[in-house]
Amino acid sequence: MQFKPTIIALLGIATAAVAQAQGAWPTKPITLVVPFAAGGPTDVVARTLGAAMTKSLGQTIVVENKLGAGGTVAANYVAKAAPDGYTFFIHHNGMATAPALYRKLAFDPLKDFEFVSQAVEVPMTMLARKDFPANNLQEMVAYIKANQSKINLANAGLGAVSQLCGMMFQRAIGVQVTEVPFQGTAPAMNALLGGQVDVLCDQTTQTVPQIKAGNVKLYGVTTKSRVKVLPNAPTLAEQGLKDFEVVVWHGIYAPKGTPKPVLDKMNAAVRTALKDPDVIKRMDELGAEIVPDAGNTPEALHAWLKAEIDKWGPVIKAGGKFAD
Ligand code: ASP
Repeated sequence: MQFKPTIIALLGIATAAVAQAQGAWPTKPITLVVPFAAGGPTDVVARTLGAAMTKSLGQTIVVENKLGAGGTVAANYVAKAAPDGYTFFIHHNGMATAPALYRKLAFDPLKDFEFVSQAVEVPMTMLARKDFPANNLQEMVAYIKANQSKINLANAGLGAVSQLCGMMFQRAIGVQVTEVPFQGTAPAMNALLGGQVDVLCDQTTQTVPQIKAGNVKLYGVTTKSRVKVLPNAPTLAEQGLKDFEVVVWHGIYAPKGTPKPVLDKMNAAVRTALKDPDVIKRMDELGAEIVPDAGNTPEALHAWLKAEIDKWGPVIKAGGKFAD
């Protein structure tokens, strides 16, 4: 009997929360968690979309950079966050590669999240520091092979696409160099610009301005075909690295249990943002391709993530690089 008022009070709070989530949402700023450092490729996509979504939602999208362990710290944080409609997450292929890379992953990418939408796809570029003694991919490969023990390859940690690309590159040319992990490729790029590391594979969303300014050396793009934003850059595959392909895709997620009406409104806001002329222009300048509207459903993201987990699992396991 004495529990009754407490139960009634709790029911009242829960009902109010659901009503608020379903009706007036959003009534306060929304956090969009980014798993890598500010200023890097994932952050650029998040902030560009966030600014456009702020316009249609009428509330600010606040980007929060939660760093560590190749994106898994942030994913775990969001998986356990309150499903109240005020925490969302943007992540890339790392959502699919983490289960194969981490032996004790504390979240399940397919079960612990609600799926909102896909967003953009981004090519990667193979770069070296400006004074790297190689002027094309053949020379680069020859130099790396001859100096394996001295080469530092930067990445954004186990689970980052830079790490995946670097792993595939080493495997394709038959070397093993020293990998230097950062908490995002923004600090990795700074190290490349400063000459503290030698090689970095990273997304055009960060690298195009540095390539165009001549601050780094470019050896190729990781897509099947050449990309519009860097028309003179050959693909790695056409230069002899057969079947080399890494395309970075992004998905937007929420903690499991986030109310469906909120997810629907968020999905609509993402779709609207992807048609915003400012977003289209910025993504175009940075070489990112907006996913066609039909692909931007929760179901499409879920199916894509599942397919990517199935695709990368065996590739990564064969690479033999794991963490706990
Ligand atoms: N592009 C990076 C990576 O996954 C992460 C970042 O956005 O900083 O390698």
